[in-house]
Amino acid sequence: MTDACRVVETGGVYQSGAKKGQVRTAKRWACAHCDALFAATGVEVDHLVPAGSLRSDEDLVPFVNRLFCAKDGLQVLCKSCHKTKTQLEKNK
Ligand SMILES: [Zn+2]
Repeated sequence: MTDACRVVETGGVYQSGAKKGQVRTAKRWACAHCDALFAATGVEVDHLVPAGSLRSDEDLVPFVNRLFCAKDGLQVLCKSCHKTKTQLEKNK
């Protein structure tokens, strides 16, 4: 597993659907940009090389190749960092 896809196990009190006081291990994902930890619902998978857009038929093959890249072409970002990166890429 690379730094771009880091899972951290943290202890926590399991609140919903568990008996009182029951503790379980909660997985947290580290954002590759800000390094903060988030639950799985707080992170998104980002393409290091943007997949780009489909403006013509000629865009289809390179778009698909970038979209379905190898695992090392992906990173985990929190939703905020992913939104910022995506907006910066659109403004290029
Ligand atoms: Zn982040």
